[in-house]
Amino acid sequence: MSDQRVVVLGGGESGAGAAVLAKLKGFEVFLSDLSEIKAEYKDLLDQYQIEWEEKQHTESLILNADQVIKSPGIPDKASLVVKLKGLAIPVLSEIEFAGRYTNAKMICITGSNGKTTTTMLVYHILRNAGLNVGLAGNVGQSFALQVATKSFDYYVLELSSFQLDGMSEFKADIAILLNITPDHLDRYDYQFQNYIDSKFRITQNQTEDDAFIFWENDPVIRLELEKRNIKSAMYPFAIERKEKTNAFVENDELIIKTLKTLLTMPTAELALQGMHNTYNSMAAGLAASIMNVRKESIRQSLQDFQGVEHRLEYVATVKNVRFINDSKATNVNSCWYALQSMKSPVVLIMGGTDKGNDYTEIEELVSNKVKALVFMGIDNAPLHRFFDGKLKPCVDVTSMEQAVHEAYRLAESGDTVLLSPCCASFDLFVNYEDRGKQFKLSVRNL
Ligand code: ADP
Repeated sequence: MSDQRVVVLGGGESGAGAAVLAKLKGFEVFLSDLSEIKAEYKDLLDQYQIEWEEKQHTESLILNADQVIKSPGIPDKASLVVKLKGLAIPVLSEIEFAGRYTNAKMICITGSNGKTTTTMLVYHILRNAGLNVGLAGNVGQSFALQVATKSFDYYVLELSSFQLDGMSEFKADIAILLNITPDHLDRYDYQFQNYIDSKFRITQNQTEDDAFIFWENDPVIRLELEKRNIKSAMYPFAIERKEKTNAFVENDELIIKTLKTLLTMPTAELALQGMHNTYNSMAAGLAASIMNVRKESIRQSLQDFQGVEHRLEYVATVKNVRFINDSKATNVNSCWYALQSMKSPVVLIMGGTDKGNDYTEIEELVSNKVKALVFMGIDNAPLHRFFDGKLKPCVDVTSMEQAVHEAYRLAESGDTVLLSPCCASFDLFVNYEDRGKQFKLSVRNL
């Protein structure tokens, strides 16, 4: 093996971790990043005596690789990746590579929305149940680094479509597919089917001993299942029970039913409220039931989960106006669920980098629940094109401080100010975390 050269493209969390694992497995390793590498990752690479370069890709040091591990952020269309593929050099993801060096059981979560929440919830349940479990993928520490330096029996992995694209032999023992709505189409030749295929890679290589948990009422998933021959044991969840539904709600009780268990609990006791979060709780509860976690323990964890920052996060109540931070709602579908779960009139702060959004999906909810809209972005024209003339006050702002002031001015006692932007944040903020943190700060300064 040691004569094999592994080149890692991208020196972030996943790339640096993959480089360390490759080095420990005896490969000759080189890491290259077109941007500047963070100091902590440079230190890690130096500590393992791994060669690296930044702000450039030196092709002579890359095109001689036996295999290349590519960060999910680098598109397949990048000229270097096209060249590598032309030379028939395998290009894989960190997850695929690291998966080859561990026998741990894999619980993998994908979907267009709800991945992080569900991943954290599954991890919370399994840890509380006393299992030796790691958390990785899009959240936390690099999977490869954990495989290199720790020995977990289980991993809970959040997988984006980009990570799934670089996976071929990897297998999820338990796969969760939450939902599929159009997203990231710029990376998929604007073909929705390509994105769907990518999401369905979560089931690849599964056998009848593995489990596939999915949302039964998702029209895209349903249609796709008719075309595919999935071998794994199927565990559909839905709000309403059908013949084969394994998790559902009946008389305000969440019910999770597998061959071995029957778990019930009042939906009012779930830590995560809102219909979308009930789905996430069903998916997580099913995964834990399949793993034979005791139902008392699952119930307890579904009750005491603390939630994840920037996802329908309660911030504060000022003069009886509630402020909710849902900065992670970077597409229209997640805003739909946020609005759907609101129980009082809403002033909605939205806008940012529009990925070609169609706001028709939230039109009815906006008309029923939203009393005013605050458009926050450098280019609010797409929002005006859709919402102008629909009888709501629409106010334009160009900073978070302004947005919070305007929203507070428009709200009355008993209302909720919701930041659920439907858009990416890169026009005015570093990222969605920065946007959410600025929101919380502005609210606290009111
Ligand atoms: P992801 O990791 O897939 O981006 P998150 O858990 O970070 O998902 O949630 C992103 C956004 O989607 C949040 O605004 C959240 O309120 C919303 N959301 C969470 N779960 C779901 C779901 N099951 N269906 C639709 N929207 C959801």
